[in-house]
Amino acid sequence: MIVVLAIDALEYDLVERFDCAHLRQQYYGKTDITEFSEPRTMVLWTSFMTGVNSERRVLALGDREMWNLSLDIGETFFQGFRNPAVIDLPGFSYDLKQHARERELLRQYFEAGSPTEKECIREEYNRLAFEHHRKIKADFGRALSENHDLVLAYFSVADVIGHLNFGNTVLMKMIYLDLDEIAATVKEEMIVLSDHGMMKIGSFGDHSGYGFWSARDRDLGTPKITDFRGILLEKR
Ligand SMILES: [Zn+2]
Repeated sequence: MIVVLAIDALEYDLVERFDCAHLRQQYYGKTDITEFSEPRTMVLWTSFMTGVNSERRVLALGDREMWNLSLDIGETFFQGFRNPAVIDLPGFSYDLKQHARERELLRQYFEAGSPTEKECIREEYNRLAFEHHRKIKADFGRALSENHDLVLAYFSVADVIGHLNFGNTVLMKMIYLDLDEIAATVKEEMIVLSDHGMMKIGSFGDHSGYGFWSARDRDLGTPKITDFRGILLEKR
């Protein structure tokens, strides 16, 4: 079994700063996503699973419709595995309802007039994100005990919480340490991969222009996100 921890917005600098040894593994570094005009989540994960830059295809769908994109397994490298489990990945097995609700609360937050109203929406937003995170953690734990040759779980918590709370170091550290604990439960060979990192904009967070990777067996240098198709197929 090969395991992929697909972590949205896992930031290289914070993995180092919070000393997340299990996320770092033996070898780690940044990915090169400079071929993309912006670090967009849906563009990056669909490029990852197809092995080709899908920016034009995804952007052609428009800002709203792109989130509903759901690729057929035949378009992805997952078809090279006998019994893959791919949990909540954008563009493939994404929980559309959950993520639509998150985006709606984010919109409400920025449109809210008073600080009290904003705080109330932020609490609801954070609660929703953590509840979903617990569900994905449980699904991931279950998948690890089943008979899969590939288990990929997508964790959105660092991105979703980060957008409204990146200036809250205590909260962000708690999330990174939790993700580090999840990585520690994996005994099989594992790749940790993020689509992009995150940088601080006041108390908020926005996507940074590189991703993060880590591996146990070799130094991957500064790979492109489209290189992981080949890297993972090689490990079958
Ligand atoms: Zn993302």
